[in-house]
Parts: sequence; C-alpha cells; structure tokens
Amino acid sequence: NLSDRLEGVFKKLRGHGKLSEENIAEAMREVRTALLEADVNFKVAKDFVATVTQKAVGREVSGALSPGQQVIKIVHEELVELLGGVTEQIELDGRQPVVIMMAGLQGSGKTTTSGKLAKMLKAKGRKPYLVPADIYRPAAIEQLQVLGERLEIPVHPSTTDIKPVEICHQALKEAEVRNYDTLIIDTAGRLHIDEALMDELKEIQAAIPLSEVLFVADAMTGQDAVTVADKFNSDLEVSGIVLTKMEGDARGGAALSIKNITGKPIKFVGIGEGLDDLEVFHPERVASRILGMGDILTLIEKAEAVVDKKEADKIAKKLKKNKFTLEDFLDQIQQIKKMGSLDQILDMVPGISKLKKLKDVPKPDEKELVKTEAIIRSMTIKERRNHQMINASRRKRIAAGSGTTIGDVNRVLKSYSEMLKMMKKISGKPGAITGVKRRK
Ligand code: GDP
Ligand code: MG
Repeated sequence: NLSDRLEGVFKKLRGHGKLSEENIAEAMREVRTALLEADVNFKVAKDFVATVTQKAVGREVSGALSPGQQVIKIVHEELVELLGGVTEQIELDGRQPVVIMMAGLQGSGKTTTSGKLAKMLKAKGRKPYLVPADIYRPAAIEQLQVLGERLEIPVHPSTTDIKPVEICHQALKEAEVRNYDTLIIDTAGRLHIDEALMDELKEIQAAIPLSEVLFVADAMTGQDAVTVADKFNSDLEVSGIVLTKMEGDARGGAALSIKNITGKPIKFVGIGEGLDDLEVFHPERVASRILGMGDILTLIEKAEAVVDKKEADKIAKKLKKNKFTLEDFLDQIQQIKKMGSLDQILDMVPGISKLKKLKDVPKPDEKELVKTEAIIRSMTIKERRNHQMINASRRKRIAAGSGTTIGDVNRVLKSYSEMLKMMKKISGKPGAITGVKRRK
C-alpha cells in the first residue's frame, strides 16, 4: 500500500547524509510509481512529483534536519496541499434554515450519510430535519424514516407522488414553522449519470436556497468516483465532497485526486456503516496517516524548533558506535528538558522509530528528569563512563548524595541500560558498548 511504499522510499533517503539531485530524482520516480499504484490520477501524480522535486532542490538546508528529513517534510506539505490544505467546515451560518443537499450515484452512501450528518449536527446543538427526496424507490423514503426514528430526528413525510422540488419547498415551509434550522435533503441517485437525474438536481438548486451541495462518492471506486464528481460539479455547483467507505479503501486514490481534479474540497469521510462513522476531513491528519509517520513529523517540527543539528549528530554518532555513556545521558537530559521527551530525541536517530513501535521506550516525566539529573551528577566520572562498576554500596552513596532512594538510582540505571540495549539492536554491531556485556 501507499504508506508502505512511501516509507520504503524515505528509508532510503534517510540513509544519505547529503542528497544529490540524482538521489532526489530517484526517490521521486518511486513516489510517482507509488501514487499511481494507489490509483491516483496520472496528471495529479505527475504534478505532485514535479512540485516536490522543485521544492526539494531549491529549498535552503535547514540546520535541524537532514536532507532526507527535509524531503519527507516537503512531501508531507504537498500531500496536505493535495488533500485540500485546510479543513473545510460546512456552512452553517448565514441564512437560516440552512439547506444541505446530498447528491451522488446510487449506492454511494447519500442516505446513510444524511443520517450520520444529522446525528453529528444534532450533537452540536442544531435542529436537523431529514428530507427524503428520492421518489423513485419507496424503500428510499422508508430507509430515511427508519434512520430518523433511530436518531430521534424528524423526517419530512415525503410521498412518491410529489415532485422532488415540491417536496423541498414543502419541507422548507415545515421547517420554518417548526423551527428546524438544518434541512438535509436526500436525493435520488442513478447507476450512471443521466440527464433526468441532473435536471432534477438542477431544478432543486435553482428553486431552493441551498447552502451546501455535498457530492457523495464511494472511495472504493477510485478514479471513477473522481470522474463522476467532476461531471456532477460541472453541471451543479457542488460545494463539497463526502468520501464514503474510506475504511475499505486501501489505496486512497480518490482522496488524493478529487480535490485537485474538481477543485472542490473533501468535507467529510465515511468510515463505516454505523451512524457514528462520519468524520470531518482533516487534510493534515490524513497526510500524516498516509505517510505512516504522524509522530515523526511532529518530531521533525519540534526538532527544528529546538535541537541543534550538531548536537543531534553527535548523539547519533555515539549511539551508533555504542559509546553512549551516562555522561551523554546527562547531556541528553538537558536537551530532553527543552524538547519534551526522550522518544523525540531518539527519533532523531534513523531507524529507531521502527523499533519504538516494537518496544516501549521509557518516557521520563519532568520530575523523573530532575531526579535523573541529580543522580547522574552524584556519580563519579568513572562511574558515569562505566555504569557496570556501580555496585550496591555505590548505589547507596549515590542515592544519599542526590537525595533520592536506591530504587530511584536503580531505575535510572535500568532505563539507561534499556537504551543501550536498544541501540545495540539498531546498530546490530556486537560488543562495542562500553562496559556492557553482550547477552544473547
Ligand atoms: P445511497 O443509495 O447513495 O443512498 O446509499 P446508501 O446510503 O443507501 O448506502 C449504500 C450502502 O453503503 C449501504 O449498505 C450503507 O450501509 C453503505 N455505506 C454508506 N456509507 C458507508 C461507509 O462509510 N462505509 C461503509 N462500509 N459502508 C457505507
Ligand atoms: Mg439513498
């Protein structure tokens, strides 16, 4: 899948100390292939790669980031852009009652999404009114009535002998009388776009003051969803897109192409059949999820803000050489205090984030840090460089000297050894750790 593919590309990039245009070009070829395999529109993939390349080659080198990290950051930024940039809320202010029309092909999820959206809006204090306007299938009206009952949300008593635009007029009047502030019109869909369907929707759009026309598309249909969205959008003035069945879409091609092709933002995603399975679409979060590296990205941002690159390099080198002593640990604590947590420092070391997923890294809290600092300061230089010599009587002395307990001292030594063990796994080199015997 796309996440795995991109991760592979980035892993290679991170391995380089410096990136040449060659390196970038190769990585970008792979990114493009990954996007195409994810069913992203061809032109979108091509433009994406061109933009990233241009930015990667042109951008000034930031002190805190390695060139590889820099490219990852640019890819992330561009993914966010591709997904729409900012979170787009539906329009609920302005003229009341607000009228939202759902449009899309049959089976895309209009009726279900109407129910989900009504529920979401009700929870926000709105008073939704569900309006069935699919008069071709009696079951469609009933489907919405059932949803309304379950949600305790009123449903307009539509009948199949009244034209959809008429239903909408009546529902609007009814809403005004009953003080419902949000109408959700569930329209009919066809298996394919046809003129009759488009005319019906256009008629509603011309007659009713719609604040939103949400095009509902099944994400699992990939580029078809994008093509149909584009067609709808050129006939109707679509204001936003709902991508349903996202949880079943392993590839993500529709999500990554639809904004770029239609110019209309994704506003919600459906992630299941349940009535709670609707989420506001956040480009930032989705991009991070696609990259499979949400944490790493925040880390990169934090690192940029705080840690100086030289310091990080020094640690990385020591960790690699397995020469990371308690003294270095103490240095780290100074940095950690600036940065937030031990993990984040460790993340600066390539390869470690993978490992972190497998094994819990000790996460000292603020108080722990202060204690740890005091404990290491109470050690002699020799002890700091060879923690194995710290026997019971030394532990006792250190505890007394730092105003802590032997238990505290033990904990510090333990978390330090944990870290060493982890380093050893990463570097894969036996033996070299100062004073630590290698165990099988
Ligand atoms: P409509 O014809 O556009 O009104 O589509 P429906 O709302 O009747 O939905 C068609 C089918 O898709 C139903 O079985 C829904 O339960 C299902 N569905 C809708 N949204 C989602 C979603 O986000 N995830 C999943 N897995 N199924 C969905
Ligand atoms: Mg329906």
